[in-house]
Amino acid sequence: MEITEKAPAKLNLCLDTPFRHSDGSPEWSMVMTAVDLADYVQITTHTDSLAICVETNSGFLPCDQRNLAYQAAKLLQRKYKIQEGVSIKIQKNIPVAAGMGGGSADAAAVLRGLNKIWELGLSKAELAKLALSIDSDVPFCVYSTPAHVTGKGEIITPLPKLPQMWIVIAKMKTSVSTPKILRSIDYDTLPHQNVDAVVQAIKNNDPQNLCQHMGNSLEAVTSQRHPNILVLKEKMLKFGADAAVMSGSGPTVFGICKKHSRAQHLYNSLKGFCQNVYLVRPIDLQQSEEH
Ligand code: ATP
Repeated sequence: MEITEKAPAKLNLCLDTPFRHSDGSPEWSMVMTAVDLADYVQITTHTDSLAICVETNSGFLPCDQRNLAYQAAKLLQRKYKIQEGVSIKIQKNIPVAAGMGGGSADAAAVLRGLNKIWELGLSKAELAKLALSIDSDVPFCVYSTPAHVTGKGEIITPLPKLPQMWIVIAKMKTSVSTPKILRSIDYDTLPHQNVDAVVQAIKNNDPQNLCQHMGNSLEAVTSQRHPNILVLKEKMLKFGADAAVMSGSGPTVFGICKKHSRAQHLYNSLKGFCQNVYLVRPIDLQQSEEH
């Protein structure tokens, strides 16, 4: 059997971590959305062996058990004692180690795809619970719908459609190691965000308040190592973004524009200055699956 799943990148419209759990993992409070910059994951099952093979068009990625898509297939194969192997081909479009959840998106696509192929009948909530053992962003990526994400990443509370907006994403050359950033958080000095205000702004379809309260507590941590993040953010605001924040643990920065013409201007202004620039819109995988 063969299936191709879209694996959209995620952005954090707001990100805060109120405390660290005793096992070292952060408690999260994040507002997340998927965007229409996506990897495509082709999943093929076969009966000749139990092997899991991963191929990608990116030279940088591991194709063995370190690949999150491999881990997702192994998880379901082992848990449900499936006597089939899996080949996974990833067409990589999402920049790697950019704070856009590319690996998590691929893993979630494998979970969704194999849930269909193997007729496991798992709900999104059940898949999300399993997904947490792979990475904290995988549960959100299983849904890829606008959501308030809490717990260690496994509590997904879907939100209504986002207000109309265009998003310009810019990634600098630097790659950031998420574990390193998370280890260096000092909870005594970490600035916090008004995540509830962002949730409320989305519920009220209020782009003004959404832009006003967007923020990322990790920006202070990552920009200590990579001060260019703050320069890029300033540039985005100067070029007309209504709000600009870092996504995840960085270094990607994105700007929100309520008007398409402004977003196009911002995109053109950043091209040439930044290695990767994308003009995207939020997407809701749940809705596109229903229609
Ligand atoms: P995080 O979700 O940890 O914030 P990120 O969005 O910053 O991650 P990813 O593109 O997911 O970045 O890559 C993080 C690490 O995961 C990289 O070191 C990469 O080698 C590894 N990785 C494993 N599998 C994949 C995959 N399928 N796609 C991208 N990266 C992967």
